[in-house]
Amino acid sequence: MVVVMEPGATGAHVDAVVERVRSAGGEAFVSRGVSRTIIGLVGDLDEFRALNLRSMAGVADVIRVSSPFKLVSLDNHPGRSTVVVGGSDRGVPIGPGTFTLIAGPCAVESAQQTFQAAEMAQAAGATLLRGGAFKPRTSPYDFQGLGERGLRILAEVREHTGLPIVTEVLDAHDVPLVARYADMLQVGTRNMHNYALLQAVGRAQLPVLLKRGMQATVEEWLTAAEYVAQRGNLDIVLCERGIRTFETSTRNTLDIAAVPVVQQLSHLPVMVDPSHSGGRRDLVLPLARAAIAVGADGILVDVHPAPEEALVDGAQALVGADLRELASAVRRFPPLVGRRPAERLAPAGAS
Ligand code: PEP
Ligand code: MN
Repeated sequence: MVVVMEPGATGAHVDAVVERVRSAGGEAFVSRGVSRTIIGLVGDLDEFRALNLRSMAGVADVIRVSSPFKLVSLDNHPGRSTVVVGGSDRGVPIGPGTFTLIAGPCAVESAQQTFQAAEMAQAAGATLLRGGAFKPRTSPYDFQGLGERGLRILAEVREHTGLPIVTEVLDAHDVPLVARYADMLQVGTRNMHNYALLQAVGRAQLPVLLKRGMQATVEEWLTAAEYVAQRGNLDIVLCERGIRTFETSTRNTLDIAAVPVVQQLSHLPVMVDPSHSGGRRDLVLPLARAAIAVGADGILVDVHPAPEEALVDGAQALVGADLRELASAVRRFPPLVGRRPAERLAPAGAS
C-alpha cells in the first residue's frame, strides 16, 4: 500500500501518517521526491484500511499496489522525475528535456591521468565526471582501484573543473566514506542484486546511479531501485549497460528496448552506457546515437588520455577524433528529439 501526500503536505502531516501506521504495527518508509512525498507501507492491509489514512490532513491518495515496485512506478507518480546531481540549486539535471553526458576514466589511476581525462570529458561537453576508485574486477589479481586515495583525487579534480563526481561504491560499509567525496553513488552491474548495498545507498543523502544487472530482467532492475527508494532516497537514475546473451561479438548486448520499456513502467530517468555494453571503442558512437534516438536521458562513456596504457577497459575508452565525434553527436542530435544538452542549473537569484 502507498500513501501519496499532497504537494503542499508538511513534515507534520507526514509524521502523523507514519505515527498512525506504526501504532497499528506496520512499517512506513518515507520517500521525498522533488514534487511530492510518498510513503510505502509494509504490514497487514486490513489493519491499514481500518486506519482511514485517506481522511488525514495532507494525504492526496492511498493506493493498493500489487506490483513489486511501487515507489518507482509511473502509476503513482504525477510525471517523469528529474534527478539533480551536485546540489539541488546548482547541480546538473538528469531527466526529461535534457540530455546529460557523464564521462571520465573507467578507473582513477593517478592524479595526472584523472585531470587529463576530466579535461577531455569537459571539452566533449560532459557536465558530470565519472571515475572508479573502487573497481569491481572479475579477477582478484587485476587492479582493484586506488580506494580512498582515488576519491581524494576525484575531489581535487572537482575542485579544479567544477564537475560533480559519479563514482562506484562496492560495499555497504563503504557508503559513508564514498559519500563524503561523491556527488552521485554508482551501483554497478555486479551489485544490482546486493540488497544490503541498495538499502545503504537508499539511506544516503545522495543521488544514485543504478546500473542494470547483466543478468537482470527489467522487473528485477526496477525492484532493485525500489529497495533504494524504500529507504527514503528517490533520487535514482537507471543505467542500461548491456545484458549477457549468446552473442560474443560484443562484451554484452545493449538492450536498447529497455529504455522505452522502463519509461512505460517507471518515472525514474534512464541513461545508457555505450562503453561497457559493447566493450569496443568503435561501437561507442553508434550505440550513443541509438541511445539519443530511443529517448534516453543521457549516456555514460569512458574516456582515457592514453587508452593503450589504461589499467582497466582501455579497449572501449575514447580519445582524440573518436571523442570529438561523440561530442559533436551529443551537441547536435538531442535537439532533434526535443532535448538540450544538460548544463549546471544557475543558482537561484543569479542572472
Ligand atoms: C563502470 O561503470 O566502471 C562499471 C564497472 O560498469 P558496469 O558495472 O556496468 O560493468
Ligand atoms: Mn569500466
